[in-house]
Amino acid sequence: MIRSDAPLIEIHGIHRIYRTGDVEAHVLRGVDLTIHAGEFVAIVGASGSGKSTLMNILGLIDRPTTGRYRFAGEDVSNFGRDDRARLRRNAFGFVFQHYHLIPTIPALGNVEVPAIHAGAPRDYRRRRAAALLERLGLGGRMLNRPSQLSGGQQQRVSIARALMNGGAVILADEPTGALDSRSGVEVMALLKELAETGHTVILITHDRKVAAAARRVIEVEDGRIVSDTGSDSPSASSLMLPVSMPGRAGEGEPSLWSAFAEAAHSAFAALVSNPVRTALTLSGIVIGVASVIAMLAIGRGAQADYMERASAIGTNWVVIGRKGDNSAASNPITVGDAEALKHIPNVSGSMPALVDQATLRHGELDTTARVFGTDRGFLAVHAWDAGKGTFFTEEDQIGGSPVLLFGTTVAEKLFPGIPDPSGRFVLVNNDIFLVSGVMEKKGLSEDGEDRDDIVIMPLRAASTRLFGKEELSIIVASLNDMARVEDTKDAIKAVLIERHGREDFWLHDAASAFRKAEKDRASMNLLLGAVAAISMLVGGIGVMNIMLITVRERTKEIGIRTATGARTTDIVRQFMTEAVILSIVGGLAGLVLGAAIGAGAAFIFDMTVIFSVTTAIAALTGAAFMGMAFGFMPALRAARLDPVTALANE
Ligand code: ADP
Ligand code: MG
Repeated sequence: MIRSDAPLIEIHGIHRIYRTGDVEAHVLRGVDLTIHAGEFVAIVGASGSGKSTLMNILGLIDRPTTGRYRFAGEDVSNFGRDDRARLRRNAFGFVFQHYHLIPTIPALGNVEVPAIHAGAPRDYRRRRAAALLERLGLGGRMLNRPSQLSGGQQQRVSIARALMNGGAVILADEPTGALDSRSGVEVMALLKELAETGHTVILITHDRKVAAAARRVIEVEDGRIVSDTGSDSPSASSLMLPVSMPGRAGEGEPSLWSAFAEAAHSAFAALVSNPVRTALTLSGIVIGVASVIAMLAIGRGAQADYMERASAIGTNWVVIGRKGDNSAASNPITVGDAEALKHIPNVSGSMPALVDQATLRHGELDTTARVFGTDRGFLAVHAWDAGKGTFFTEEDQIGGSPVLLFGTTVAEKLFPGIPDPSGRFVLVNNDIFLVSGVMEKKGLSEDGEDRDDIVIMPLRAASTRLFGKEELSIIVASLNDMARVEDTKDAIKAVLIERHGREDFWLHDAASAFRKAEKDRASMNLLLGAVAAISMLVGGIGVMNIMLITVRERTKEIGIRTATGARTTDIVRQFMTEAVILSIVGGLAGLVLGAAIGAGAAFIFDMTVIFSVTTAIAALTGAAFMGMAFGFMPALRAARLDPVTALANE
């Protein structure tokens, strides 16, 4: 690209007209200028004559209204935004009257900025920036922020920054304008030294004494060049990139990772610089994530509790009973029916039950209890076994032996103070029964019924010895796979209709209650989803808001980055990353808060709470995506800022 025989800078017929509303200011009125590599040029003129406007055009920060620009022989007049950014960061170094350092980062970081956008590796950047600061006498000030430095020191930092990417052309706009005379002299000496070591230096000043330091002086008046001492006959040996650059990372773009690291850094800086505002802004995300995490954990806990209770009663069964009992319109349910059901696929067993009241007596004590005549299928169907003694045996079942088991309530009533009445005898409706054992304690049922106020015995003992009837109260069929409950119920119906000639029975399954709970949980989840979506939306708007404020507050920083060579994508990426990081920080805070709420609920209300890693990851991912979605607009706004206006922003 660069031809050593062509002039470095050649502009022709440059006009610059500013339009503000209806007002037009014709600032540059046909400027032609040729500058060779290695020249030290001063552009001098009264305030308002158009010097800065000219410098911005020379430095490709601004574009002329009309006119041509050739840089090192190449026509750059029609370069797009990113090409201009590339040329700026590779060829130019800017020194401004008011230094234009980024206030939130230390001297070292400020010097590094142009190299970040050129994609130089971090190590190289650090070393080079430190070496430059050292060379400019700021070795001990590298970690100071601009506000901790004097004007002269800040200007030297900005000169170091101008040299960071090589600074083949140094454009200095009133570099001594804000300095005391001693610092001014120092800065001028520096520029002179740079010119002597081969940099092309273009110095802009309103001060003739300052301009006298240059080898060529061009005078501007009302947007025109009125005098020019002429080219200082540059030597053919003038170097384009005079500063030795050890291990320079050539023409590069920042790697994704380094771009992320940089953006992460400034995101955290922005975050901590105004913690209260940040906290308020992020509250939407925090509350959203926290409520989702906590409510899902509590919901899942409640579900697990329900499952546990449900499995204590057993849920994988279907109960069959007689419709309109004892009327002539229906047939009794029999042991034969129970046997027939055993052959249906998915029915793992069927338990006949004859339930009736009976009076039990032991010595002086008596009680009335529910007697459950059944078979050993009871054990599996109810998942309930003897806690003391043993359940009745297969032989007892077949022979209808007079044995029984007590629920704990009955045992306490008839054998108070006796820990295990197994082996004792009781009277049931005046028949003698042997106590085989006491069932495990079950406690109260859902509807407050005492499930331990029961007596269990072989079906045949109940039907022949006690109640004198064959008819069953219910049949309980247990199923292998609850998912197929509807099909299995249909099959049971078909078998019984065949046996009874009509549908004179009812079916009830525990699973329908269970399914209702499932459905409740699904609608609860839907509600939670809505809460999450709304709070995420609110959170997103919060993030967008803070990002818009950030862009406004950091307009100058954006201008500086753009002037020193950041491309549109660099700026977009930086602000997007900041938005995403903000959102993730909010999400993490929400995670912690949600966990705390869940743990609090578990502790205070003795609830079962189950946290899920999947939910946590989903919530964080959601927050990150939201940051991306809502950060895009502010980021784009930042990237589209015009560098000249951005720099002018104070
Ligand atoms: P100098 O640097 O020589 O003092 P400038 O180039 O800064 O002069 O400004 C030249 C003239 O252009 C001034 O009259 C100034 O008010 C005007 N000007 C500069 N920038 C703008 C702008 N962005 N919009 C409108 N007018 C501007
Ligand atoms: Mg000016």
